[in-house]
Amino acid sequence: MTDIGGLGGPVGRIGGRIVAAWVPTHASQRPIYGMDTDVTHQVEDLCAFIDASPSPFHAVATAATRLEAAGFVEGSPDDGTGPRYLRSSGSLVAWIAGPGRTTGFRVLMAHTDSPNLRLMPNPDRSSHGIRQLGIEVYGGALLNSWLDRDLGCSGRLAVRNAAGMEEVLVRLDRPVARVPQLAIHLDRGVNEKGLVLDPHTSLSPVTGLGDLEHGAFLATVAATAGVDTADVLGFDLMLHDLAPSTLAGTGNELVSASRIDNLLSCHIAVEAICGVVGEAGGPTPVVVLYDHEEVGSTSATGAGSPMLSSLLDRLLGDASLNSTDSLACSVDGAHAVHPNYPDRHDAGHLVHLGGGPVLKFNASQRYATDAPGAARVRLAAERCGVPLQSYSQRADLPCGSTVGPITAAVTGLTTVDLGTPQLAMHSARELCACSDVPQLRRLLGELLRS
Ligand code: ZN
Repeated sequence: MTDIGGLGGPVGRIGGRIVAAWVPTHASQRPIYGMDTDVTHQVEDLCAFIDASPSPFHAVATAATRLEAAGFVEGSPDDGTGPRYLRSSGSLVAWIAGPGRTTGFRVLMAHTDSPNLRLMPNPDRSSHGIRQLGIEVYGGALLNSWLDRDLGCSGRLAVRNAAGMEEVLVRLDRPVARVPQLAIHLDRGVNEKGLVLDPHTSLSPVTGLGDLEHGAFLATVAATAGVDTADVLGFDLMLHDLAPSTLAGTGNELVSASRIDNLLSCHIAVEAICGVVGEAGGPTPVVVLYDHEEVGSTSATGAGSPMLSSLLDRLLGDASLNSTDSLACSVDGAHAVHPNYPDRHDAGHLVHLGGGPVLKFNASQRYATDAPGAARVRLAAERCGVPLQSYSQRADLPCGSTVGPITAAVTGLTTVDLGTPQLAMHSARELCACSDVPQLRRLLGELLRS
């Protein structure tokens, strides 16, 4: 998101009184009730990370910029010791090898992708004088949450150059698309019977007026990127909600934002590994940010890829992996108890917003946490004074999953699934508690060190 700090607010007149309209503000302008400035800064930083990262490719770029500012150099394990990182499309891995560090690994894993609407290869269409886009739903999106939102577009272009092809990041931060909801007068039973949306026919966004013109939308994107449309050989483009992240609640104690799942974890994992740069000795810290978690992780850069295991192999050299000396932590969202639907949760595992990080358990290995792994996280939480919550899904509801079990299967590492409490998971706009941000930051820092 572009800088919103300088936006002046429009003023409206309601009932004879002059009132200021809603104005987006930076978190620093809105201190969080009862919390110190360090918390405010951490949450403000989270909002900046999310707003800078509308697509997985942007999330990788945002993470890389932060890693480089902390002393990381883009390179391979063969480039010697020190802070290094590698990126591959929408995924990134960062590590700090030696000197003095052991071959016991501390791996933090998160994912860069979120459910959204993605452009088809030939997206332009027109119906009844209205231009639209052909889209596919990416991941398990709450489809209703994409209605009546002003949507921008972001992603990457594969652009012809003298060497063959280069990748160009692009983002349109203006409302170029919108999925208008059907008026209630034309759908009278919607509030009683529920809203049913067909992903192919109900969600095609409006992009303007006019007849079908093939290539028109891509031409707009290419112009924004400063490249010739004829040179665009391929694209991975998606839509994003233009509303900036903001603090919410009467005391500013909540974060209302897109992509909290799972850019919150990406942000804190990156900050945690940046925080151990320059420290001597200890285990070898690794952070992996994977793409494609929301569609099952089976891809060249997803958690099912060899990205992490090949890195660990190369860092090990002739040494062998001591899986009990290493620990992998998958860090993702966790379902906080919803005040309007408390019956959807097991009464013995009610997770609360603001209650601290969550250890997630599932007997069917939808989460990878086992007893020894849980014990190590609990010891780390005790050492750094962070409260832990436990989550187990109701036995009569199918449980979601994440990268934890997949990487555990690929690497053989003891793995735990951690989460941050949130509401509205997979909505275009999610909600979490400010106080959980510094708690997770402290726990991940401790896990990397111990
Ligand atoms: Zn997630």
